[in-house]
Amino acid sequence: MAAPPPRTPLVDRIEELLAPGGPLPIVAAGDPVLRRGTGRYEGQLGPALLARFVEALRVTMHAAPGVGLAAPQVGVELRIAVIEDPAPVPEEVRVARGRVPQPFRVLVNPSYEPVGPARAAFFEGCLSVPGYQAVVARPAEVRLTGEDEQGRALDEVFAGWPARIVQHETDHLDGLLYLDRAEPRSLAANQAVLERWSQPTPEEAARALGFELPH
Ligand code: ZN
Repeated sequence: MAAPPPRTPLVDRIEELLAPGGPLPIVAAGDPVLRRGTGRYEGQLGPALLARFVEALRVTMHAAPGVGLAAPQVGVELRIAVIEDPAPVPEEVRVARGRVPQPFRVLVNPSYEPVGPARAAFFEGCLSVPGYQAVVARPAEVRLTGEDEQGRALDEVFAGWPARIVQHETDHLDGLLYLDRAEPRSLAANQAVLERWSQPTPEEAARALGFELPH
């Protein structure tokens, strides 16, 4: 049986965070924890507490609901995120955005680099910036490296919507929000996106709101 991790302020804080059970509170933009970046995960929690923390991230992501959640979004400065997207979208949206189902994954110490010059621009939102969406142009394909929750090496190319999700979550671990990369003039309330900009691509929104899309 593995020894429990030594009691550290981080271990104590995560035990306290998990104690109530159920979804964790999500930190909103304006909290410095979303801007400080994170430290590499080097076993600080031990396997049992890591498993409980990852499960809490999963439960919180589902409850929100969202397709990804990074540790800083629950106030924890560790390089850990979870992703999962059942992709319940119409066929035309699936084709235009490459929004294919992404099974549940744990990303530990992830980093990414673009694969090729192609970029894709779509409306994107964030659980830490509730109520709004904006268009973000991102590399269409990325190579993601890191580890999984068992410490096994991860080295994989992501395309389509899953590429967007892994970039968004990895950016959180570097203290970046999607707004840092967004077209400022595309900022739209959820209601406006629902009523006006639910087309598969943001071309009409770009014309009407006056922002550029990558060619
Ligand atoms: Zn986010």
